[in-house]
Order: sequence, then C-alpha cells, then structure tokens
Amino acid sequence: MADPSRILLCRTKGWRKPPEARVVARNTIFGNPWVVGADGAYCWPRGTRAGWQSSHRTPAGRLTAEQAVGAFAVWIHGYPVPVRLRPDILPPTSRRRWRDDMQARRAAIWQALSLGELRGLDLCCWCATDATCHADVLLALAADTRADLSRWMDLVAGEFD
Ligand SMILES: [Zn+2]
Repeated sequence: MADPSRILLCRTKGWRKPPEARVVARNTIFGNPWVVGADGAYCWPRGTRAGWQSSHRTPAGRLTAEQAVGAFAVWIHGYPVPVRLRPDILPPTSRRRWRDDMQARRAAIWQALSLGELRGLDLCCWCATDATCHADVLLALAADTRADLSRWMDLVAGEFD
C-alpha cells in the first residue's frame, strides 16, 4: 500500500471524497488556525469542537504558507508561538482564553492522534497538493508509530506562553 498522502478538496459538482480519506480543513478540529494569505490571518478555535470563534489579525499581517504551516507545526509540537503570529492586541483576559482554547484544541488533536484516528489515511485540505500545507505536518505525526504518543501528548500539554 502506498504511503498516505494529501488530497485536494474540490467543490466541483460530482466530486466525492475517497471513503478512506479524512478531511483536515478548518471545519474540522484538525484545521490550521493560521490562514494563508488572508488579512485576518488567524482564526480562534472554539474549544475542542470543530469551528472557530472569530478571526483576528496578527502583527505579521498576511501570512505565507510557510509562516502559517510553521506556526501550526510549532504549536502542535508544544513550542511557544512567536508573538507576531498570535492574535493582535488582546486584553489580558482574552489572552488567557486564547491560551486555554489553543491548549484545549491541541490536546484534542493529540488525543485523536493517539487513538490512531488519522493513521494510514490520506488527508484532504483545500491547499494545492504541491503547496506547503499543515496536512503534511499531520501526516508525519499520524505516521509516528511510537507506542507512547499519549505520553508525548502529556509532555506538550503544558502551558505555552
Ligand atoms: Zn492545507
């Protein structure tokens, strides 16, 4: 069997997602909060469920695919997200909530990964298959065969700031 790969989502009439593929776009919990090219640049996750609270600007402005995917990779692995890639000008209470929501979302993704939800599956996103996409980061994590993924999840579940 070929290694799992990325599939381009398509709005064309009659197009159907292959049954064994999983969508990881922003209408799922696997979506990337950082938006390529958009001026809003960043979507705030609504806790651990699919969906987004609102979109925010970041000091970085329009993001390249490398920035958006890089931010996702840094965040999902539990490293601090650079300030210029965080929502811009938040009051302290919102900043705390952003941090809590991001941690909850990341824990939910790790939970799904540790249960093998993406293992062996092709992943679908709106990005062109030759573009940098957060699905590549997810493919690498999903292919990780270490038995103690959930322990790793605990390690990265700590606060980041
Ligand atoms: Zn993508």
